[in-house]
Amino acid sequence: MERLDGKVALVTGSSRGIGRAVAVELARKGCDVAVNYRAQEAAAHHVVDEIETLGRKAIAVKADVGIPGECEALVASVVKELGGLDILVNNAGVWQGSVIDEIEPPMLNWMMDTNVKGAFYVTGAAVPHMKKAGWGRVINMSSVIGVTGYPGDSAYGATKAALAGMTKSLARELARYNITANAVAPGFIETDMTIETGDDTRAKILKTIPIRRWGRPEEVALMVVFLCEAGGYITGQLFTVDGGYTI
Ligand code: NAP
Repeated sequence: MERLDGKVALVTGSSRGIGRAVAVELARKGCDVAVNYRAQEAAAHHVVDEIETLGRKAIAVKADVGIPGECEALVASVVKELGGLDILVNNAGVWQGSVIDEIEPPMLNWMMDTNVKGAFYVTGAAVPHMKKAGWGRVINMSSVIGVTGYPGDSAYGATKAALAGMTKSLARELARYNITANAVAPGFIETDMTIETGDDTRAKILKTIPIRRWGRPEEVALMVVFLCEAGGYITGQLFTVDGGYTI
């Protein structure tokens, strides 16, 4: 088991939901954490407070991961203020469902820019610091929708499958530097992203989950922590946390 005390983590999109849970769990394990957000400044500062209460350092950094220059500035400020960058969790993501003949370019671009390109921009800026340290962890937040597909989710599913594909080449490319790259594919998790799911859809989904409940952000976060702490010989893999949905 690797010790995470004193490691520096950047979790993109950690003002809320799964990202927030990941940031807090990594802090519990001894990491100093950069909390990235795009719009919700107050929520991000609340997460910073939570982490500081745990006795770790934390900073909130505003950056839209879909904009390359903002990603470079994000990584630069993490390194400057927290002294390095060892763990990157590419968690920031957006979702909009649409049947194929109603997908408009702005919707497609928004999901591609945030979910896919953002991971490339931030990882590209972060990896040189991991190489320098001779240790690193990259974790991409994929989704079961990228594995099984879902009606009306071809665009979102494509972005999440892209992350899983990216992870494999990244793992092969970075292994020689003692940097692992893995992807986590949550199932249906209770967050703001899924809060507006209607009762009928919810009931339909529930029947397809063997554990018969939706997941909690903390349950996804524990997988991320495991991959950081114990995952030195695990790389290029996709791990589902889905109550058995993909069985
Ligand atoms: P959420 O509650 O909607 O939170 C999304 C987070 O991403 C927020 O912190 C938001 O920041 C941030 N964000 C959005 N666009 C951004 C951008 N352009 N740049 C930087 N940050 C941005 O979502 P969630 O459910 O926690 O999802 C987190 C990740 O897990 C996503 O990648 C999602 O696709 C994936 N996932 C979720 C589920 C699920 O059931 N919830 C299932 C599978 C996979 P602001 O609030 O500041 O804008």
